[in-house]
Amino acid sequence: MAGLMDGKKGVVLGVTNKRSIAWGITQVLRAEGAEVALTYQGKRVEESVRTLAAELDISVVLPCDVTEDAQIDALFAALGERFGKLDFLVHSIAFAPKEALEGEFVNTSREAFRIALDVSAYSLVALARGARPLMKDGGSIVTLTYYGAEKAVPGYNVMGVAKSALESAVRYLASDLGPEGIRVNAISAGPVNTVAARGISGFTSMLKLHAERAPLRRNVTQLEVGQAALYLLSDLGSAVTGEVLHVDAGYHAMGM
Ligand code: NAP
Repeated sequence: MAGLMDGKKGVVLGVTNKRSIAWGITQVLRAEGAEVALTYQGKRVEESVRTLAAELDISVVLPCDVTEDAQIDALFAALGERFGKLDFLVHSIAFAPKEALEGEFVNTSREAFRIALDVSAYSLVALARGARPLMKDGGSIVTLTYYGAEKAVPGYNVMGVAKSALESAVRYLASDLGPEGIRVNAISAGPVNTVAARGISGFTSMLKLHAERAPLRRNVTQLEVGQAALYLLSDLGSAVTGEVLHVDAGYHAMGM
């Protein structure tokens, strides 16, 4: 049977290990026939990303620290050479200094604020700009966000502010790139036990609370986030852009 992503080529940024949301997305995309390139931030994780890539027969694995413009330029030059065009890009990247993810938000330092916004929000803008010339036949860009962008979630702190900026950036990018057939959307995922999530103080109780209060009375899996990404990245989502799609077992719909 034909896959929903047959003939589509793209890049997924943010796979670190098997628990990464980006890994769930990559698995679904590969199963539907997409050609996928993966990236790694630095030498520290290169080997593990290459090992994971091999599991899914992915041969294009490239470096990209999103705080370095030169690395972003080199990434798209390499993707242009290998693929000739891009149909999709997945941005599954966030970072804030640990001390900013505990205690009171009011104590966030200027430097922690700058780093969190740079890595977690500005990077989407820089990557969209880099992908644009390669998305000759239109394209689809998906980023990952969290409910802490909309409401104050204790412990999420500066990351919530970064996610608000990210969600706003999704709308502005959708506006700029829409005339070229490039769609830009975010998935607001419920809590998933990953390396990034474990950096948030009180994350275990966050998982428990979500499962108790969400209408579906459970948490979500990486593969479920992957399936929602498939909808947005494939032609199924062809008229959807500038959207924040909640994949959180319905948690966001509750008032209490
Ligand atoms: P993860 O596996 O730790 O993924 C985070 C990724 O960001 C890692 O691959 C990390 O690379 C990368 N990264 C950080 N700084 C970077 C930089 N300067 N350049 C390039 N890559 C960089 O955790 P995850 O939970 O799957 O996170 C993926 C996305 O989902 C994030 O945007 C996160 O906020 C979002 N999200 C997560 C949850 C959740 O509960 N897990 C819920 C909603 C949204 P290194 O490992 O090399 O540092």
